[in-house]
Amino acid sequence: MDFADRVVHLSPEGAYHMLARAQALEAAGRYIVHLEIGQPDVPTFPNISQAGVKSIQDGFTRYTATAGIKPLREAIARDASARRGISVRPSQVVVGPGAKPALFFPTLALVRPGDEVIYPDPGFPTYTAMIRVAGGVPVPVPLLEEADFSFDLAAFDRLVSDRTRMIILNSPSNPTGGVMPLSALEHIAGVAKARDIWVLSDEIYMRLAFDGRVAPSIAALPGMAERTIICDGFSKTYAMTGWRLGYGIMPEPLAERVELLLTHSIGCTASFTQVAGVEAIEGPQEQVEAVVAEYQRRRDVLMAGLNAIPGWRCRTPQGAFYAFPNVSSYGKTASWWADYLLDEAGVAVLPGTAFGAYGEGYLRLIFANSTENIQLALTRIAAAVAKLNKS
Ligand code: PLP
Repeated sequence: MDFADRVVHLSPEGAYHMLARAQALEAAGRYIVHLEIGQPDVPTFPNISQAGVKSIQDGFTRYTATAGIKPLREAIARDASARRGISVRPSQVVVGPGAKPALFFPTLALVRPGDEVIYPDPGFPTYTAMIRVAGGVPVPVPLLEEADFSFDLAAFDRLVSDRTRMIILNSPSNPTGGVMPLSALEHIAGVAKARDIWVLSDEIYMRLAFDGRVAPSIAALPGMAERTIICDGFSKTYAMTGWRLGYGIMPEPLAERVELLLTHSIGCTASFTQVAGVEAIEGPQEQVEAVVAEYQRRRDVLMAGLNAIPGWRCRTPQGAFYAFPNVSSYGKTASWWADYLLDEAGVAVLPGTAFGAYGEGYLRLIFANSTENIQLALTRIAAAVAKLNKS
């Protein structure tokens, strides 16, 4: 079939391909440990679910204002201001079904055909998809393992140019778990200001930071609020992936444009989902802290196991719930490893190349899974690698 240029390049996320392969093995009777799909393994916290259910029962089931209900935009503005040390007005907040609209629609609103957009590689696959749909040119900046997967700033300096319209950041990062240090953000902010470039800061994993760390936001640096779009949401922090709730925070004129794009595409976000979102922000936060502490314990189990595998090495993730071991010493591709571990060990992981060319030599494993499953996966992976060493 003949398609418009803007969609011919689109391809599915790698995670779904791997999930389908794993499910086929399960259908044939094998027990597969799923470390490929990036979502919390805990259910949505009960107070949040109850708030959503009650709002349906109360008949709050009609269209809402496109950019979100007032109490939610106000709650998000308060919460984002307090957590990031910035001053956010509710009129800067645009609510959408998930965080993805807060990536896609600001990109559509700002990127013109031929504009270059710098993005992290390895990085979330939606970045290249949305840049291309907007007619822009994706310009990957490699992440450096030795810098805990922060930007390669020398490469960044080489790649930024008069054609650069936007810089995408993602800290804590999917797929590496890296958190960008303040010094790197300051460097990037300096360039963005000098060259009048927008920054799209995907902070969806901000609350999932370990060892007492707070992931800094570039929006809090002097002069950055007026050129930064923060993308955040409820999927990861509150285990709400299926509810579809996220938001963007941006200067008002851009928020108005993004709202118009939402008006003519999604209309509005589900009314009861938004009520659940107010409860998520205003309700008790201890449950978030408890889950983060639990992820940290599981991370430590996974780290010890991965670094004990001969030839593998893994930096300790500082945030999100992904480990990104370097498995290149065997001279096999990442995608060979992912296939081998699924077929031989019954462990589903993603090849780093599902996140861009610079992901070659790495695998992504999620640790939002039970400690038992993580231990089982480690035992199976260690046996599969030992078999390789013997052959
Ligand atoms: N940004 C990153 C880095 C992600 O990993 C994800 C989800 O996996 C999203 C955005 C999208 O989140 P949501 O499901 O809320 O749209």
